[in-house]
Amino acid sequence: MSTLIRSETSGSSEITRDDLLTYYQELHDAYGHQGWWPSEGWFETIVGAVLAQNVSWTGASQAVSTLKKSGLLDPEALLLLGPDTLAPLIRSSRYYNQKAVRLLVFAEFFMTRYRGDISLMKQEETGLLREMLLELKGFGPETVDSILLYACEKPVFVVDAYTRRIGSRIGWFPVDASYELMQNFFTTRLFPDPDLFNDYHAQLVYLGTSICRTKPVCESCPIRQMPEDLRCPFVISDTPRVRKKP
Ligand code: SF4
Repeated sequence: MSTLIRSETSGSSEITRDDLLTYYQELHDAYGHQGWWPSEGWFETIVGAVLAQNVSWTGASQAVSTLKKSGLLDPEALLLLGPDTLAPLIRSSRYYNQKAVRLLVFAEFFMTRYRGDISLMKQEETGLLREMLLELKGFGPETVDSILLYACEKPVFVVDAYTRRIGSRIGWFPVDASYELMQNFFTTRLFPDPDLFNDYHAQLVYLGTSICRTKPVCESCPIRQMPEDLRCPFVISDTPRVRKKP
């Protein structure tokens, strides 16, 4: 069984900004720029962030497509629909009744506070906007931070279950780290660069869905090839033991 060598012995404090950039560069070299968020506009991004809660992106993107084909990727149009008409349209995103209400809560907030103008929302001070969004019913840190980064282009690092799995295996933080601890791990080391934060998160999601899955495919992982002091200990400890001579 693999162990978290780095975090259990010396702690993640020894990981520097340059180290984190090296991990990113390795993933970028392997997979290219991910071009997130996969949407055609800021409101589609926000709708996608809400619908992707607790479901695969496939299920969420089907619901987004349905709304798009119906000409409903517009906050005013959603408010005219109401929850009972909206919910069946987003059925593929699971928990669709709750998510219909969440979309309408956001649309109401956005139309009331920013008169439907995304440029006004982008001008809001980041900490205040984050607080207000977190107060909306059903909006947790991951959803809010996705909106801040991918729709408002604010320098906010998004972390999720893939970040937890990969980061704990590499030894960046413990597997039971809080959302804030994981987020601070990145934001205290990296310069607040929305483009970097955008693609770093996207690279981790790609790695988490394709390689570093529940059962990781380490032989295909770019992090396996890194210099020994940065290499993932999950792999190092999995290396077959050489039997000592008697
Ligand atoms: S080497 Fe294996 S465990 Fe480590 S990050 Fe890559 S896939 Fe995950």
